[in-house]
Amino acid sequence: MWPKQLNAPLEVVDPEIADIIEHEKARQWKGLELIPSENFTSLSVMQAVGSVMTNKYSEGYPGARYYGGNEYIDMAETLCQKRALEAFRLDPAKWGVNVQPLSGSPSNFQVYTALLKAHDRIMALDLPHGGHLSHGYQTDTKKISAVSIFFETMPYRLDESTGYIDYDQLEKSATLFRPKLIVAGASAYARLYDYARIRKVCDKQKAIMLADMAHISGLVAAGVIPSPFDYADVVTTTTHKSLRGPRGAMIFFRKGLKEAVFPGLQGGPHNHTITGLAVALKQATTPEYKAYQEQVMSNSAKFAETLVKHGYELVSGGTENHLVLVNLKNKGIDGSRVEKVLEAVHIAANKNTVPGDVSAMVPGGIRMGTPALTSRGFVEEDFAKVAYFFDLAVKLALKIKGEAQGTKLKDFVAAMQSSAIQSELSKLRHDVEEYAKQFPTIGNTMKMEVMLPYQTSIYLECGL
Ligand SMILES: *Cc1c(COP(=O)(O)O)cnc(C)c1O
Repeated sequence: MWPKQLNAPLEVVDPEIADIIEHEKARQWKGLELIPSENFTSLSVMQAVGSVMTNKYSEGYPGARYYGGNEYIDMAETLCQKRALEAFRLDPAKWGVNVQPLSGSPSNFQVYTALLKAHDRIMALDLPHGGHLSHGYQTDTKKISAVSIFFETMPYRLDESTGYIDYDQLEKSATLFRPKLIVAGASAYARLYDYARIRKVCDKQKAIMLADMAHISGLVAAGVIPSPFDYADVVTTTTHKSLRGPRGAMIFFRKGLKEAVFPGLQGGPHNHTITGLAVALKQATTPEYKAYQEQVMSNSAKFAETLVKHGYELVSGGTENHLVLVNLKNKGIDGSRVEKVLEAVHIAANKNTVPGDVSAMVPGGIRMGTPALTSRGFVEEDFAKVAYFFDLAVKLALKIKGEAQGTKLKDFVAAMQSSAIQSELSKLRHDVEEYAKQFPTIGNTMKMEVMLPYQTSIYLECGL
């Protein structure tokens, strides 16, 4: 009885969830995905992630597990580790890798707890200047990230006049703060890190250098931007951003450095994810992958150039990676309002703080990146078109702001509901969707409901 039910397909067992998934597929097809931390992983990765590898407990490491029955799990994890080192051209005599972390934030916490004592000092790029929560953000009154509860954190920041990291100030602060660990890595920084410079500061302070390449690891794997491995002691990365694998993370460490993550924070590894990651890492060493990452870079350059032509100001004046950070202040509007309009016209991007912002709730910028749409086959001219759609959305946001009855965000949202504005929004949304729909989706076969005569409908499988 139940074996039969357990083997029944999703559409039969749970039409409600199946329907939600179909809607999500359609959303990914019709929209312009510009969130720079997102990507579309391959069908082969998803097949591995959606496999029986999810069933097995395997606490420990290959060859040293708590439970039995792990011969194939060991093979998958060992292959994943080997491919991870190969993807980043690392010598297995010098580097090791842990492929078990569940995601980027816990992987960073695992590094801190493995290498530091409670309340040791950490320095990292300030969150409002492009850093990440998992590097220990706190405000005057509140420890926002748990990292800042268990460790003492001190930010370094951008030089607000240039939009580049202020390494001189970083060095001065480090002399006073004497950190045990310095993080080199960002979530909203369009420039390359000067790893050599941070290494020098670490050497002076006898601090550990952690490079968190979550956003840029795909670019590093393809060799289209400099690698942190020549300088860092430990390198963490998520696997689902530019790298284009399943959701997860990895920790690379120089051999000799304490590598204990289990049993510190890690219980049973997600073997389906590790197996999918092995597939993604195999793909990451192909010529197609290098070509893809070169296209990501070239699309980003074209996108930045077109935005500047449309009169937009970019933090740091441009980009050297996969993302742009637009400062909207010269346009007389903020990131929150523009984000609302973008969402209404099916463009996914996120509001972001820019240097000089006083409020993180109403930040002055928008962050956009090219990895996801490049996976769908967008090239330079397409990104010129995307910049054009973005400009139309900002102009519409300015118009709505002009019509709003008050200065609050909720007044803006109310003004968006007028029928004149609604029809402008739906026209732009239609144009955006028609454009996006021309491109293939990745990793899914869409079930398109096609109406036939006599009121019957069938599902056509079409691999778009
Ligand atoms: C995204 C990101 C992370 C965290 O990843 P999650 O998987 O969302 O926890 C950590 N560090 C940086 C720099 C990131 O951009």
